[in-house]
Amino acid sequence: MTENLYDLLASRFPADRDRPCFLLSDGSEISYGDLEAGAAHVAGRLAAEGVRPGDRIALQAEKSPEGIMVYLGVLKAGAVYLPLNAAYTASEVDYFLKDAEPSTFITDPPAWVREARGHAPLDTTVARAADDLASLIYTSGTTGRSKGAMLSHGALAANALALHEAWGFTPDDVLLHALPVFHVHGLFVALHCALLSGCPMVWLPKFTDAEVLAGLDRATVMMGVPTFYTRLLANPDFTRAKADGVRVFISGSAPLLPSTFDDFVERTGQRILERYGMSEAVIITTNPLAGGRLPGSVGYPLPGVELRIGGGEQTGVIEIRGPSVFSGYWRMPEKTAEEFTADGFFITGDVGRRDPDGRVWISGRAKDLIISGGYNVYPKEVELVLDELPGVIESAVIGVPHPDFGEGVVAVVMGQGDEAAMVAEARRQLAAYKAPKRIVFVDELPRNAMGKVQKNLLRDRYGDLFG
Ligand code: AMP
Repeated sequence: MTENLYDLLASRFPADRDRPCFLLSDGSEISYGDLEAGAAHVAGRLAAEGVRPGDRIALQAEKSPEGIMVYLGVLKAGAVYLPLNAAYTASEVDYFLKDAEPSTFITDPPAWVREARGHAPLDTTVARAADDLASLIYTSGTTGRSKGAMLSHGALAANALALHEAWGFTPDDVLLHALPVFHVHGLFVALHCALLSGCPMVWLPKFTDAEVLAGLDRATVMMGVPTFYTRLLANPDFTRAKADGVRVFISGSAPLLPSTFDDFVERTGQRILERYGMSEAVIITTNPLAGGRLPGSVGYPLPGVELRIGGGEQTGVIEIRGPSVFSGYWRMPEKTAEEFTADGFFITGDVGRRDPDGRVWISGRAKDLIISGGYNVYPKEVELVLDELPGVIESAVIGVPHPDFGEGVVAVVMGQGDEAAMVAEARRQLAAYKAPKRIVFVDELPRNAMGKVQKNLLRDRYGDLFG
């Protein structure tokens, strides 16, 4: 039997293929039958153009249902899907194309699929084994070269099945999908849950308050990055009644502030379900659907995932092993070897701890660790203190070169306040070496498309603060 991910997904499409898959903002729908036919024509066109199993097919375009037909058609043809952020510049794209050497590069999926309909559909999915490559996802890598994480059919299938189960998806669900689809969150986590349950998606090209608020009237599940939830909370039209039909709000890709979690409970009576993942392993841990969801914790490892803290301390770098972990970095065997332990655990680079109950708490990225005067400062610990102070919406703590301490702790605060008073309060609550030496106030923190604060940009911007 073939282990092509496409066959698993298609085996769960609704028996009645007229059921909608995409619910579009203009009121129109695209059915599961349309999706299936589109994918078959895409696969047919790829085969006709000589694409062979294992060839890479790159796509850089705005989000569209046809882009998903391309994704599924690529899988069906046994090729490897390489999505690229629509915001990448020509020179960035050049790097990915040279590195991945795709046989086809698609920039206009609607036009490409229209032409594909002139080709005979490929009816039989190309057989693939579980460890054959399904997709290449370039990490958003803030340091060094961006690396292509190789995800196999088996890894994606294992994660999709685990999430579908953990989050209780059924054919009666309606998923609000406003995430980008060049990243694992929108492409694998969200899409696969919907396809495996054969349920419709409210399909939004991007997050806009008006469309998301309208979509919530039909949705039963929403998935988003934390900024989606802060934006909703900032809008007075987001009321308890708006959230009432949604059985679960899921957040990930960046840390959800406990204050956002609490404000959400106050506004809607619902506790956001936070989960943790990365390009190299899709989803690793999740808070439970039933039972306690704690603010600040990313919950428990998914079934089948082994998770441990490296280094023998209570807090350290999270290491994982399991069926959804990637197969390595594309054409970087040495880099791959460096990031796995001898016994096969992937070293995530995220720092965290497990409590006695088994819950996982993340305290930041290892590379964001600050070493000031020889002492380790975990930025998250300082951020949690600052975030509670009046006037602070969110803080980002970084280390920048300091003539005496090696690195000096700097807090970039979104909000307002008195620098000296805030430093004094931080010193009251924290060991002196952890307290920021300087606080800079800004209107907005720089974020990438997934809502992650870009600390590398902050380190560049404030690098000479003590110089
Ligand atoms: P990416 O590969 O772009 O998906 O980025 C993965 C990284 O996002 C992880 O290694 C974490 O540092 C971060 N991340 C994802 N989800 C969470 C979460 N719920 N809390 C904290 N950090 C997260």
